[in-house]
Amino acid sequence: MKTVSLTDEVREAVRAARERGLDVGFVPTMGYLHEGHLELMRTAKHQNGFVVLSIFVNPLQFGPHEDLEKYPRDPEGDAAKASGAVVDLIFTPPVEEMYPAGPSMSTVDVGPIGEAGEGKFRPGHFNGVATVCTKLFSIVGPDRVYFGRKDAQQLAVIRQIVRDLNLPVQVVPCETVREPDGLAMSSRNAYLSAEEREAAPAIYRALEKARNAFSPGGPADALKEIVAREISKEPALRLEYAEVFDSETFEPVTQVAGGATIAVAAYLGGTRLIDNIEVG
Ligand code: AMP
Repeated sequence: MKTVSLTDEVREAVRAARERGLDVGFVPTMGYLHEGHLELMRTAKHQNGFVVLSIFVNPLQFGPHEDLEKYPRDPEGDAAKASGAVVDLIFTPPVEEMYPAGPSMSTVDVGPIGEAGEGKFRPGHFNGVATVCTKLFSIVGPDRVYFGRKDAQQLAVIRQIVRDLNLPVQVVPCETVREPDGLAMSSRNAYLSAEEREAAPAIYRALEKARNAFSPGGPADALKEIVAREISKEPALRLEYAEVFDSETFEPVTQVAGGATIAVAAYLGGTRLIDNIEVG
């Protein structure tokens, strides 16, 4: 396994892999790797001879008052975990390598999907995600890219840009990996105090309760109320939103037929966690 920080080095390594007849799988991340990330890498390795992992905390997808500066980082630990998951190449570009033109650069605008759901509370977030992913796909040139369902709206955004911009990659979704008590694994879980960590599984319990109450054609509001009620039982949690979306377009739905996603954002102290569950 090799670690590189320049786009030319990535292109050269991928070119050499292709010369050896290998398919290329790509897993973009912001690092501080956990089992959820490792599962993406293992899936990529099953399906491709050569796997590229990127670790880049992308300033473009953080709002001005978000956690860009304090986002957890552990390059050595990440390299050890990635090599265990049989990654072939790690790409860790500095910000100047990704954005040499600074603020005057071209960006990707994802349209209305970027303003729904998470986008309401994180303006510009999905344009930042789409821009960095388009650049990374262009640098790596993979056959397949791997994304977690943990970030369901992000997955929908990536599918949309691949379709709209004719990006020559196949998007492979991977299931959310959870702690034994149901909490979705996240790099941001590292921010939680012991008491907050104890309260955190209430988020997934609320989603499960809503899913169990689901009946085809039923009102979305009833599901949202269940989530809100369950979360309000845990005093440490503050609900930011509970919404029901069409899983593909991420437009809010009022009646839940097939393929809907119940998505939640909630605060534990200063830590913002998101999770979701599929119904129908
Ligand atoms: P991040 O480093 O948080 O930007 O995440 C990088 C990739 O890992 C994204 O595709 C995420 O959806 C995915 N991911 C993060 N947490 C999990 C999880 N608990 N289970 C599955 N995939 C995850």
